[in-house]
Amino acid sequence: MEWLEDIVFSVYRLLRRLRLRGLLRLGASTRRFTDVFKGFEKVEAVKRIFGEETEKVLRNLKVEFIAFGGYMGVDDVTGHLLVNPRYLKSGDRVDIYLDIIHELYHIKQFMEGKELFDNRFEYVDRPTEIEAYSYTVQEARRLGLSDERICEYLKTEWMSERDFKRLAKAVNVSCC
Ligand SMILES: [Zn+2]
Repeated sequence: MEWLEDIVFSVYRLLRRLRLRGLLRLGASTRRFTDVFKGFEKVEAVKRIFGEETEKVLRNLKVEFIAFGGYMGVDDVTGHLLVNPRYLKSGDRVDIYLDIIHELYHIKQFMEGKELFDNRFEYVDRPTEIEAYSYTVQEARRLGLSDERICEYLKTEWMSERDFKRLAKAVNVSCC
């Protein structure tokens, strides 16, 4: 039923844009980032994103659990990190770690006032995405992940083969 979740998530996004999100908040719970994800204030890749503000930013960051929608994202109205708890439970540890780095990068962009979902661009061409993915790929390489494994990480079921290749090329990963 992934497709159904995707549709519900799209509707949720739209309502959020229209500031009607209260309608869909039923059951959503908010927690502190630092209570859900431990030790990220000590991760070099995170410290490079926020600098001296790292601890403060992470302490103030809120995590909102969503019952639908694939993995993780940033709410472009509240700046909350949206997380599907099912993904946290069953997802690959390395993928989850890289997703957190990716999303924290979006948090920084949000704090800088950047438009996260600029609809003039397709997802794989959006400058905010390319920046966040490039940063995440750099961290993946530092962890020693092969290009093959990074390609696996970049490929998601909702992305077409064409888009996936375009994204990989934009972030300098060779995927065949
Ligand atoms: Zn992103």
